[in-house]
Amino acid sequence: MQSRPLRFSNKDRKASLEEARKTTYDLTIIGGGITGAGIALDASLRGLKVLLIEKNDFASGTSSKSTKLIHGGLRYLKQLEFGLVRESGLERAIAHDNICHLVHPENMLLPIVDQGTFNLFTASLAITVYDRLAKVQSDQRRKNLSKQEMLNLEPLLKERMIKSGILYSEYRTDDARLTLEVIKAAQRNGAQCFNHMELTDFVYTKNKIKGIKCQDDITKEKIELKTKLVVSAAGPWVDSVNTIDDKNSESNLHLTKGVHIVFDKENFPLNNSVYFDAFDGRLLFAIPRNNVVYAGTTDTTYSDDLDDIRCTSKDVDYVLKAVKNYFDLPNLGIKDVKSTWAGIRPLIKQKGKGPTEISRKDEIFISESGLITIAGGKLTGFRKMAERVVDLVGSKLKKKKMTCLTENYSIHHNPFKNYTEFVEYKKLKSTTVDLPDSILDRLVSNYGKDADLILDNSANEQELLINELNYCLDHELVYHPLDFIDRRTGWLYFDIDRAREFAELIILHIAEYYSLDQNMINTMTQEVKDQIDIHSLQQLKLADVNTP
Ligand code: FAD
Repeated sequence: MQSRPLRFSNKDRKASLEEARKTTYDLTIIGGGITGAGIALDASLRGLKVLLIEKNDFASGTSSKSTKLIHGGLRYLKQLEFGLVRESGLERAIAHDNICHLVHPENMLLPIVDQGTFNLFTASLAITVYDRLAKVQSDQRRKNLSKQEMLNLEPLLKERMIKSGILYSEYRTDDARLTLEVIKAAQRNGAQCFNHMELTDFVYTKNKIKGIKCQDDITKEKIELKTKLVVSAAGPWVDSVNTIDDKNSESNLHLTKGVHIVFDKENFPLNNSVYFDAFDGRLLFAIPRNNVVYAGTTDTTYSDDLDDIRCTSKDVDYVLKAVKNYFDLPNLGIKDVKSTWAGIRPLIKQKGKGPTEISRKDEIFISESGLITIAGGKLTGFRKMAERVVDLVGSKLKKKKMTCLTENYSIHHNPFKNYTEFVEYKKLKSTTVDLPDSILDRLVSNYGKDADLILDNSANEQELLINELNYCLDHELVYHPLDFIDRRTGWLYFDIDRAREFAELIILHIAEYYSLDQNMINTMTQEVKDQIDIHSLQQLKLADVNTP
């Protein structure tokens, strides 16, 4: 029998808040990105009473703006970061085992070019070390390819540049959905997780934090809750949370921006994921995904508004130039950019180092008042980061025997036994359900076996959409239409035309579900339009058209 997903709906918000007010939590986590989500799951599995609050939506910060790879970070070998590569490499395999429908194996091509980052010798050596550090199974280890083999696999590569190449393996994911599945698993294990709830202040007893004050964006209430410890996992916002605790606190972060741009596959018909040299010595990815191909990323110091992060014309020029330098796409231009996303890396400051050289390691800081802050790190390392934080929390709470249980924990409530079962399930669906492969693939990769709950009784495209939305309203805490269009489905990135086409239907359905008034509908409509315009570079394209 199919196991049912836990109800996790903002319709139950009042009751959840009432329960939260009566509870003294062992641990409160600020921030519902992958870092906070991982800590909530680890701590709840170890039996702690856990609260997590997120000011916007889960994964609305950096955790929906990454390159969406679960990887060891080959380029860090150049910086001799063996420990980081080893840990990320091992974590790749654990993430795949623990939620295989969301963390898929992905073949990656590394072309060898004149004056590139790697030559064939250094690349083979680096990837051999990489495969060994990450304990990659022998059948998935790197293969050296001749020039012709590379061009057969990827005819879009510029022939005159390519000398040879390497095929190696990585994993691909949907970062926002991974975050959400980890949040859902934490909630299933007793954690109380709220989106649209912002930390505004702390409550102190004898100069130690013993509570939080927050603003609920849904009920519009101000709420005070009790807790023994607080961890800030606020990503790029950790400095502003630290300032709430101590207005003189010093910044530990160096923020850098990274953008990705998305093209229709017909304009950038790439067959394989490629890790390629830009013209300035950096490495970029180009990754096919259903009907689109995305490329990125940049890495530039950022000091502007953290709540309005955009891809600029300079960012687009950089990625386009890098793509056109490497691939034979003479007509590709800004007109072909379907969509973009921009995110901020919360890196730990390192004196004298530029954005690309700074280590991606995580670090933990503790303030005088007991606020624990975790920053830095990568999506890939979320489980290990959480283990380190919860070990520390356990020792602060003087809890004995708090063994970390996440290494062999199936994150989804109804998991596939292994990747083969996932592939078989997908094959079976494609023979029994009349849907384009791209839609079916997205549903099964996003929801695992819960795709059945969406596919059942969906006689046409509109019914399918409403069933998916209802699933997310009932089981994934969707409140704002952008929660659905951006973080649950990824349409804002990978299918922006669908987001545009169905925005009104989605808004009206959500309004009916929550009995929202016309003012709220108008506000949501404007916010959705603004985000679609920003992601599809509406302003930049208009400027381009108007330039004489
Ligand atoms: P965030 O996801 O930003 O979460 C912090 C959350 O805190 C936010 O949602 C925010 O709204 C919330 N918050 C802030 N203030 C408050 C408050 N006062 N009250 C309540 N909530 C608050 N890593 C990989 O492993 N693989 C990759 O392919 C990869 N690619 C990347 C590409 C780019 C361009 C970038 C920028 C990063 C990439 N990374 C990658 C790194 C990875 O994305 C980040 O390390 C990770 O997402 C950070 O997660 P986080 O939870 O720490 O921060």
